[in-house]
Amino acid sequence: MTGDNVINGLDDDKLHEECGVFGVWNVADAAAITALGLHALQHRGQEATGIVTHDGVRFHAHKGLGLVGDNYSDAKVIADLQGARAIGHNRYSTTGATLLRNVQPLFAEFAFGGFAVGHNGNLTNAHSLKRTLSRRGCLFQSTTDSEVFVHLIAISLYATVLDRLIDALKQVEGAYSLVALTDTMLIGCRDPLGVRPLILGRLSGADGSNPGWVLASETCALDTVSAEFVRDVEPGEIIAIDDRGIHSFKPFAVHEPRFCVFEYIYFARPDSVMEGNSVYAVRKRIGQELAHESPAEADIVVPVPDSGVPAAMGYAEAAGIAFELGIVRNHYVGRTFIEPTDQIRHLGVRLKHSANRAIIAGKRVVLVDDSIVRGTTSSKIVEMVRAAGAREVHMRISSPPTTHSCFYGIDTPERSKLLAAHNDVEAMARLIGVDSLAFITMDGLYRALGKSGRNPGQPAFCDACFSGDYPIPVTDSHGVEARQLSLLAELA
Ligand code: AMP
Repeated sequence: MTGDNVINGLDDDKLHEECGVFGVWNVADAAAITALGLHALQHRGQEATGIVTHDGVRFHAHKGLGLVGDNYSDAKVIADLQGARAIGHNRYSTTGATLLRNVQPLFAEFAFGGFAVGHNGNLTNAHSLKRTLSRRGCLFQSTTDSEVFVHLIAISLYATVLDRLIDALKQVEGAYSLVALTDTMLIGCRDPLGVRPLILGRLSGADGSNPGWVLASETCALDTVSAEFVRDVEPGEIIAIDDRGIHSFKPFAVHEPRFCVFEYIYFARPDSVMEGNSVYAVRKRIGQELAHESPAEADIVVPVPDSGVPAAMGYAEAAGIAFELGIVRNHYVGRTFIEPTDQIRHLGVRLKHSANRAIIAGKRVVLVDDSIVRGTTSSKIVEMVRAAGAREVHMRISSPPTTHSCFYGIDTPERSKLLAAHNDVEAMARLIGVDSLAFITMDGLYRALGKSGRNPGQPAFCDACFSGDYPIPVTDSHGVEARQLSLLAELA
């Protein structure tokens, strides 16, 4: 499980990670099922992947850099991952190095047995906890936030692994959906606000008499392995699955849930269902709201594929304007975001999208995308659409302006790089080069999600990236630069 393989740069003590997690209990071909589940969750992380299985006696693990398909196509790799219990993880990070020792699931051998854990989210006090733990003699093997869980469990004075885990969870702040595997249990849990998703599903059991269980970040992974959806793991809930069945614990004070609204807007796969809502239907409704809020005199509605497609369909439908695939996406290029330099990011956009000149030339075009972050994608797309002969370009965005960084597990650049943090909509329109620009309002977004609006005192989502309202303390958020400086100081 060890052996470092550095791909770029120095280290990876970074704020932002997006990830997918998956786990099974009492399921035949657990490793293969987990690989398939992770494949369905590939959009949540493309940088590295790992699976840990348990055969009733021993743990087995495989971790690798790159895509799920590249890591598990060798039948021997899957065959060596023996057992009917498994957890897996897809990792996505965009800056710093990728070290194989940072690839999850992380594994530790405690006095009470083995413990493997995969984490989606970000701990907002990991830096402070790491410092305290290091002073107490804990030796960190990786630079991921998630290793904090392992050390907190190790030093806990409680007897059982579940009590130790609860003890650890009570000390961390931030967003987490975890899957963990011990010698005797599969565990799944969500942070008290339920910022990141985690769901429970069922499959036929390997032993014939008991059911098989599945934990996954999204329902699309259940569909891929033909598992039945049971329910969302609730915010603040810990589910422990063993041979006697499912045990649910709610050890935290009850909070209003604050599920991440950006999962709906961009991050989740459109065929997933979150909190009972079809992600695809929500995106379409956002497009409809956007058409009502910000109409445009135009001939065609064109999505920026793939992320803008459902919202553009909703916009076109509500506006009564023809929906056209005026931009074609090359699917054999990674997301522009995973390219490390600004220069390559620009190139990535051109590699990824092409204007469909026959559709666009001479038309007044409404372009629909899900978000403007740095503005790189939009500028390039607009330039391309104009070069293809568009008469007018009106850009409509299915999220409110991204004015703040996410500290809870969605990759966003530091605030200084967010276009909307320093420009009003008019200035952004000029910079991007469009005839008009409009974003969905916060109320419009909430209406698309079945709420009456974002009203004080009413249940809300985590929308910190648009509102700056951070529902969990951001203890470590003294900025990326400060973190890098302190990391360099620690390394010196
Ligand atoms: P930008 O070019 O920096 O303005 O990025 C905006 C584009 O990146 C949009 O087309 C989005 O679909 C996509 N995007 C937004 N947020 C993320 C994210 N967290 N990870 C990857 N891609 C993203």
